[in-house]
Amino acid sequence: MKAVLSTVAPARARVRSLLRTSSALRWFQSNAGVPLALTLTAALSLGSPPVEPVLAAATLRRARAAIEPLAQAGCPRGTLPDNGACVRLPVAAEDEDDGQPEAESSTNTHRDRLGRWVVYDEIPRRPDRTADYDAYRYPVPCGAGATDGTRPCVVSGYDLDRSDDRQRHGQRLRQVGHGAVDLVEPRGTPVTSVALEHQQGDAEVIYVGPLFGTTVVTRHTLREGGRLRDYLLIFGHLDAPAPGLQQGSPLREGDLVGFVGDTGSPDIVHLHLEARRLRDGVDPAKLAPSRLIDGTNTVVCDPRNVLPLR
Ligand SMILES: [Zn+2]
Repeated sequence: MKAVLSTVAPARARVRSLLRTSSALRWFQSNAGVPLALTLTAALSLGSPPVEPVLAAATLRRARAAIEPLAQAGCPRGTLPDNGACVRLPVAAEDEDDGQPEAESSTNTHRDRLGRWVVYDEIPRRPDRTADYDAYRYPVPCGAGATDGTRPCVVSGYDLDRSDDRQRHGQRLRQVGHGAVDLVEPRGTPVTSVALEHQQGDAEVIYVGPLFGTTVVTRHTLREGGRLRDYLLIFGHLDAPAPGLQQGSPLREGDLVGFVGDTGSPDIVHLHLEARRLRDGVDPAKLAPSRLIDGTNTVVCDPRNVLPLR
């Protein structure tokens, strides 16, 4: 059995790399009625020349012709005939970088300070994302340097998925509900960019200026369930943004975003970190800052859906 596996493993790796690059192969899988992995493995074992990102149709025809006898040998779909045995191939290898499933948005309500019921969309934490805030990595050190590891960091979490009576109610109902995490750090602590789960490419600065106090907004493209989704991260109450940061600046993991402060929340020094999913077709770079947090353009999201794990 070991010998069988050792011959299959390199083929798997090549199949995966091909799947990532060849749209023609995806078409072939859905149209040719032959298990794709079987086709590819057979093509590879025939000593075919290095395969270009898009295979020529003739190459595909040859590959298909070559494996037809194997297909007729009776191995079920998704397995590879090998010395009279059917060896199971990796299931859905092409899905391996499709990202986490997309979280569904839902509707909730709360009562605002004028006593009106406010109806809003929000994206609650997905069940596969741990509720433990300490399990996630944040744009601030968050206790990383504490000797006992117990320094509190997330002092206020996301509650827009809860019933009205269980949401945060600030003084005189000035704030109702909280669609973010509040992270306590000393004034001036550097805030650095983190790559979100399944992020594709660099983040991009969308806005620098007043919103939640001095604020930086960044855009991140994530792969979710096989499609791309754009999210905004909102860094609020900064003492100052990073020098030179402006709309369009790219941000890599670890790049400076700004410094923790209390602008817009006097004497309560903390970072307000909010995640919002862009609605389809919205270009945030063209929106006035107040419209970035408008439910018609973006949907507030539990940050734990997108933050990387520690
Ligand atoms: Zn906050």
